[in-house]
Amino acid sequence: MGPPRLRLTKQSKRERNGPSSGGTGRQAPRREDDMQVRMADHYGMCFGVRDAVDLALRLTDAGPVTILGDLVHNPDVVAQLDAAGAGRASTLEEVGTRAVLLTAHGIADRVKLQLRQAGREVHDATCPLVTRAHLALKKLVADGYFPVVIGQARHVEVRGLVGDLDDYAIVLDSADLDRLADRFDGRTAENVRLGIVSQTTQPIEKVREIVEDIRRRLPAAEVRFVDTVCQPTKDRQEALRALARDTDVVIVVGGPDSNNSRKLTELARSLGRPAYQVSSAGELRREWFAAAGVVGLTAGTSTPDPVIEEVRGWLERL
Ligand code: SF4
Repeated sequence: MGPPRLRLTKQSKRERNGPSSGGTGRQAPRREDDMQVRMADHYGMCFGVRDAVDLALRLTDAGPVTILGDLVHNPDVVAQLDAAGAGRASTLEEVGTRAVLLTAHGIADRVKLQLRQAGREVHDATCPLVTRAHLALKKLVADGYFPVVIGQARHVEVRGLVGDLDDYAIVLDSADLDRLADRFDGRTAENVRLGIVSQTTQPIEKVREIVEDIRRRLPAAEVRFVDTVCQPTKDRQEALRALARDTDVVIVVGGPDSNNSRKLTELARSLGRPAYQVSSAGELRREWFAAAGVVGLTAGTSTPDPVIEEVRGWLERL
């Protein structure tokens, strides 16, 4: 029998069958003079991360396995996987077991092939919504479009998306867009066909702005955009917009490396709310809430329920 397991989330059936949400907007009971804690309508661990962690734990029960890359950007879940005996490798050369697990972020086909050719038993936890982005990009390339990915160039999901391509562009900031425009500037429309997808965890508003910016900079180009931002990311961002309207401070529970948690924090700040990202209740500071009547609470797609509940409990006791 392995070590005790962290309960990830209790919404598994509803999330898979219904709206994509890790949590619901349950309100905390309160006295009149208490600071109120208000939950976002959608928050916390998504089905893609949860399924990947479940698969990793099942595999560790069955025998030695190495996880290639970060399975999940949450320190509590990583600690749980370490305790269960899962090995970790950041390169193919570091894989020390026959069984290897690919993460929810996905990977290039050529890397899968390399692993199989090396005799590895490949278990694939790629999220279906990441696979959808891969398929969309492949189709655009097959249809003759030059591939453009909106996202962070160094993020593992983006590396996987472009990993089988000879030529592509990754764009996120204005310097990237300048380079893209320079590359195709002056060419006629029939020579410039851009096929755009996005990293699944980018804010959809920002993605749409970038697509419009590309259209503005290259008016002669044929630009085809396939929206590959995943629904759980959209749900959490949309719910945060609604939450921020009526709250004085926003707390985002998520590991420091969690891209979508960081984006939630940035979104709350862009809406004019003080916002703090914490990976556990131990990082909360009383002074953040000195003038707060209502605190909004949300969490990224890699944050398990017990960590969110711990933060919520701390806030309710304040
Ligand atoms: S954030 Fe979206 S794409 Fe990533 S694992 Fe979760 S559901 Fe899948």
